Amino acid sequence: MNRRDLLKAGALAGAAAAASHLPGLGAIRAARAALPGAVEAGGWRESRNLIFLVLDGTGYEDMAAASLFSRRVLGRPLLLERVLSAGQYGSMDPQSLTAVVTDSAAATSAWATGRRVVNGALSQLPDGRDLTTILQLARDQGRATGLVTSTRMTHATPAGWVARVAARGMEEEIAEQYLAFRPDVLLGGGRGPFEAETRSDGRDLVAEFREAGYDVIHDEEGLEAATGDRLLGLFTDRDLHLPYEVDRRFQNAPSPSLTTMTTKALQHLGDRDGGFVLQVEAGRIDHANHRSDLGAALWDWIAADEALDVILTFMEIQNDTILIVAADHDTGGGAVYGFGPGYRASTPAFETLGGVRASHEWLFREVIVPGVSPENIQDAVQEYLGVMVPDSNAEIMARVVAGERGNREVQRGHPNAHASQPGNTLAKLITISPDGSPDRPNVSFSTSHHTAGLVPVAVLGPSVAPGSLGFLENTEIFHIMCAALGVRFENPGMTEAEALEVAGGGRGA
Ligand code: ZN
Ligand code: MG
Ligand code: ZN
Repeated sequence: MNRRDLLKAGALAGAAAAASHLPGLGAIRAARAALPGAVEAGGWRESRNLIFLVLDGTGYEDMAAASLFSRRVLGRPLLLERVLSAGQYGSMDPQSLTAVVTDSAAATSAWATGRRVVNGALSQLPDGRDLTTILQLARDQGRATGLVTSTRMTHATPAGWVARVAARGMEEEIAEQYLAFRPDVLLGGGRGPFEAETRSDGRDLVAEFREAGYDVIHDEEGLEAATGDRLLGLFTDRDLHLPYEVDRRFQNAPSPSLTTMTTKALQHLGDRDGGFVLQVEAGRIDHANHRSDLGAALWDWIAADEALDVILTFMEIQNDTILIVAADHDTGGGAVYGFGPGYRASTPAFETLGGVRASHEWLFREVIVPGVSPENIQDAVQEYLGVMVPDSNAEIMARVVAGERGNREVQRGHPNAHASQPGNTLAKLITISPDGSPDRPNVSFSTSHHTAGLVPVAVLGPSVAPGSLGFLENTEIFHIMCAALGVRFENPGMTEAEALEVAGGGRGA
């Protein structure tokens, strides 16, 4: 059964007939309000459904790399390119309330509430005032709600749509707030904050979710079979995220794909009378970029693009759906750079990424472990990443893995190894050719942290004419969503100075 049939098969049987093209693009334009920083609600027609696809930790350079990867390795353009062309497309400034570089918690809070908060906080001002989230407003209108993520369920990006906490690490509290909120669909990883054995208070939230009418699911088969009114899918133990897409796909790491989860969520939510709001997060692009692992980041980009395929198919069936696609911030400052005569070496170097069959995380956990010889490292890198590392680098890697050499020492020994985590140093030893040959990807990362880079945002739907969103703050997404849902709401806010007075700038990312 193809995706289209899958979507139509289940809950969507009664939906309107499908069109054979992208959602019809009406004449209603998004009118930016006269007041800076606001989008006039009247410029958007209320839609039945809202889908928000988050690409966590990815900026324009990554989008370029993903576009190149999709075209050159997979032989097709990214579907996201169609969305950017057919809808409204803008550049978003992702700062948080008190820092020019945001973390995921403040970023998700900004679009979920229309207010910036300090890094680490979820939809709560630094003086402790809870903000109202767009998902709350949607639920109060009678819409169904859902959160799908490839991270653990209680991680910051999905949590900010529901939970109001001072610190994103309060994940047991976040799980409790999910239970109180009762979203119709919760699909992600990390059973730890839900289970009695692992919770600090011994409370059995899984049982409480069951009592509240949830099908609690632990694997892909269970997900396919689930028919309950509400779904709680927790596909990994403890605090684990779902596997990287590259490991799921090529190393059989067990997990439903983002596409499978998105399909199930749309089947489940698509026939609700009042419409729905669904967030889908490709959450591990960020994690790969933190480790300078572009191959893993690119496959998680592809996972997001495949989920987008399902979403666009759904939008053909239920035309009255608005789609927002956004990144929350850039991570890593990675870039495909030009080198060699006429920059021609850049192309074969980039195309070596087509040989990636595992994430660095998987490789350094499963194969390249303490005690492994330099020769075995060379073989493993060849087999799983498709490139050859020279003897000298393999020797350094063996010693780093064995814990014999520290990060600083390695940095001195390798001209291109300048990063703040051992994982980044190892990544550089694998991916950068000091002699300028195109036998490895030669993609540079400027940091293992987030950056202040602008990020893309796009809006697509029947009431959205092609055009520009221009330059916008991340908080403006909230106003776009309010307009798309036909609600008017303004949360209280604080200035940066007020926040610094109260919170001293907030927690770190
Ligand atoms: Zn993030
Ligand atoms: Mg995230
Ligand atoms: Zn991050």
